[in-house]
Amino acid sequence: MKFKTANGFKDILPDEAARWQQLEQVARDIFRRFGLREIRLPLLEPTELFARSIGEATDIVEKEMYSFADKGLTLRPEATASIARAYVEHGLHVQQPVQRLFTIGPMFRHERPQKGRLRQFHQIDVEIIGASEAAADAELMAMAQMLLNELGLHVSLEINSIGCPQCRPAFRSCLVEYLQERAASLCEDCKRRSSTNPLRVLDCKSKGCKETVQDAPSILDSLCSDCDAHFTAVRRGLDELGVTYQLNRFMVRGLDYYVRTTFEFTTTNLGAQSAVAAGGRYDGLIEELGGPKNTPGIGFGMGMERLILLMEQQEQDSKAAFVRADLFAAALGEQAAIFAVPLVHNLRRLGFYAAIEHGSRSLKAQMKQADRVKARFTLIIGEQELERQEAVLRNMDSQEQSTFSLQGPTTELAERLAKLIEE
Ligand code: ATP
Ligand code: MG
Repeated sequence: MKFKTANGFKDILPDEAARWQQLEQVARDIFRRFGLREIRLPLLEPTELFARSIGEATDIVEKEMYSFADKGLTLRPEATASIARAYVEHGLHVQQPVQRLFTIGPMFRHERPQKGRLRQFHQIDVEIIGASEAAADAELMAMAQMLLNELGLHVSLEINSIGCPQCRPAFRSCLVEYLQERAASLCEDCKRRSSTNPLRVLDCKSKGCKETVQDAPSILDSLCSDCDAHFTAVRRGLDELGVTYQLNRFMVRGLDYYVRTTFEFTTTNLGAQSAVAAGGRYDGLIEELGGPKNTPGIGFGMGMERLILLMEQQEQDSKAAFVRADLFAAALGEQAAIFAVPLVHNLRRLGFYAAIEHGSRSLKAQMKQADRVKARFTLIIGEQELERQEAVLRNMDSQEQSTFSLQGPTTELAERLAKLIEE
């Protein structure tokens, strides 16, 4: 019996894992600079948490959640709800009114798998809870852009404001009226959505819907004065930080808890899956989940698979850094192995990536392995050399060879080797 990963689930093999580590490292370094702190959360949460926060009439809650009906639990489809739950549950605002948090990990959605769309995917998720100022919106978007830039990715930022519970209802009813007059040209999903979640029709990807909404009323024209002032300040903030963006009045979030600023980072290099990160403001969510009244929040989720795909495309052009072994020890024969194994171990103790193949294969086979791990140096210990208490150290890039004395305890040899490697 042979088994395969389930459809939409994927192994991340060692070759690829290096890139994931690189992505996480860059992200963590950026977050440190912006004073964000990590929070680690359970993968399963009460189903009700998502239904309540994301909203019943959303794609995620309607059809994409992996729920254990008998246990009342759901595999998280996104992280904002969990972070908000944790914020309320542990009263995080008491120790620090503005919480700047991030989490990195898998999310689960039952969607049709395709390039850049999986059923278990990973997100880098960032939330700033407790700050309502437009400056926080601008700072967050500028940070996301810095992260994408440091990964060497060039993506565009689109922003919009979707108003608040004061001004959105009026816009919503205008829109419903507009959509109902044109119901015939909408897709089946949007026919339904035009009464349950009409804003979602605005960013439907189907051609008929796209054409239909072209002349729909713009939410930017119905913002109340507070939302309008906030959005103006966000745009000014982005200008001050040198972040370029485009207005997209059709961009809404599929999740109910969003108000005011919404944004997306998009690319033209991933086919249909153009969004690499998406986020927005959710000033009502914390209160909705039983937390302190009027606690604002803003955040985004970044799709790691899509970033990895982009990084791979980029690397094909620019042959980026590959994790190379510092040294490969080629030991010929049993005696040589007895020497080489502790030597490699001591190099690892000193922080180096040292590789060795067990089972004394031919020199040719071992040199092949040295190539596979892209070793910078190879230490060849043959039987004759061993008798003379020396080995050959080969610089794999320059092909230069030198004699390396094997006299002395292995700890000392490792230190001498380390010096040579580091030069
Ligand atoms: P999309 O329009 O691509 O379905 P979404 O609006 O459902 O995105 P969000 O819930 O805002 O996405 O999630 C933020 C980011 O997570 C997306 O921009 C995307 O990069 C990534 N993402 C979402 N769903 C998936 C998935 N099924 N597989 C891989 N990445 C995903
Ligand atoms: Mg989606």
